[in-house]
Amino acid sequence: MLNKKSVEDLDLKGKKVLIRCDFNVPMDDERKITNDARLLGALPTIKYIIEQGGKLILMSHLGRPKGEPNKKYSLEPVAKRLSELLGIEVKFAADDNVVGENAKNAVEAMHEGDIVLLENTRFRKEETKNGEEFAKELASLADVFVNDAFGTAHRAHASNVGVSNILESALGFLVKKEVDIMGKAMANPERPFVAILGGAKVSDKISVIENLLNKADSILIGGGMTYTFLVAKGYSIGTSLLEQDKVEFAKELIEKAKAKNVNLVLPVDTVAAKEFKNDTEIKVVMSDDIPDDMMGLDIGPKTIKMFSEIIKDAKTVIWNGPMGVFEMENFADGTNAVAKALAEADAVTIIGGGDSAAAVENSGLADKMTHISTGGGASLEFFEGKELPAIVAIDDK
Ligand code: AMP
Repeated sequence: MLNKKSVEDLDLKGKKVLIRCDFNVPMDDERKITNDARLLGALPTIKYIIEQGGKLILMSHLGRPKGEPNKKYSLEPVAKRLSELLGIEVKFAADDNVVGENAKNAVEAMHEGDIVLLENTRFRKEETKNGEEFAKELASLADVFVNDAFGTAHRAHASNVGVSNILESALGFLVKKEVDIMGKAMANPERPFVAILGGAKVSDKISVIENLLNKADSILIGGGMTYTFLVAKGYSIGTSLLEQDKVEFAKELIEKAKAKNVNLVLPVDTVAAKEFKNDTEIKVVMSDDIPDDMMGLDIGPKTIKMFSEIIKDAKTVIWNGPMGVFEMENFADGTNAVAKALAEADAVTIIGGGDSAAAVENSGLADKMTHISTGGGASLEFFEGKELPAIVAIDDK
């Protein structure tokens, strides 16, 4: 299906291998890494290239330093933590301009299996503009390029698309897994294929819903965008979130779903609250009976039951966006129940990163899912049916 070279297609022995990783890890005020899942995710590709006798030059972005050197966003703590995880020294090339004397000298001195980590690629303005000069500088360090960062695959930057255009290039294991699993789900899903969409706004999900209307058997809607759909059905929604300018569009989607025989399922009940806070007056109401002075902040128990039944019969499920304001305990039931239903389903289950991934991890169900994407934005674009520029740029087999 995917006709792109993978790291296993490369001859790596004695080669300098430039690897784009996603080391954009959370850190506390003392710059201690608070969650190293992303570093762990990069290890299979790194270890494989070491075993093959490559010389590894790692690069990544971290946070948003806005194109300027800024110690707060230095990758130095990542080099330390990676050294611990690998049991091999990861030499940090502390160049404010990323490809400076430190990097060049360190690369020059490398032996097979050695590892150098470059400074944050976003210390350079050209990075996010896919500047050719910066891409050339990065490429000049290496013989081949491996892209193992899915979180930025929907962006054309110098450190992914730019270097792919210059060097022989391939996908790392992590990106390959993302693309294989999500690619199969979108192109050739086992059916019934159920998509669950939540989160705050309809406007963020327009292209996803449109694309899924041609692919999914059922689309379950939850979260803040529910209420724009309920208005489209002629219900009053009290003080719930509403995108007035998307009501017509929601009406069209409901019609299109009917015409295409897609089961577009809206919540039948809602957990309504007096105010947007955890401790406030709360009432479960039917979707066509939301009081004027209340707002819907979660799907209700009848909807949970209905959604869970549909998920139970599914063979492929994709999920993006929480069912309610899951950050507040009183409005987290819907999101947690959907996570549980996915965990129990005999289906390929794919979580599209971001908030839904966090919810699944918080509920301790992560290892029950087929795949949790490492890229919220990138997986959403995948579900929209778009081609991801950093994948397209990789050499064909
Ligand atoms: P998104 O970034 O689009 O995935 O949206 C996630 C956000 O949507 C979370 O912070 C939720 O708190 C919020 N959200 C979910 N349901 C609702 C709701 N019913 N009303 C307001 N915000 C919501």
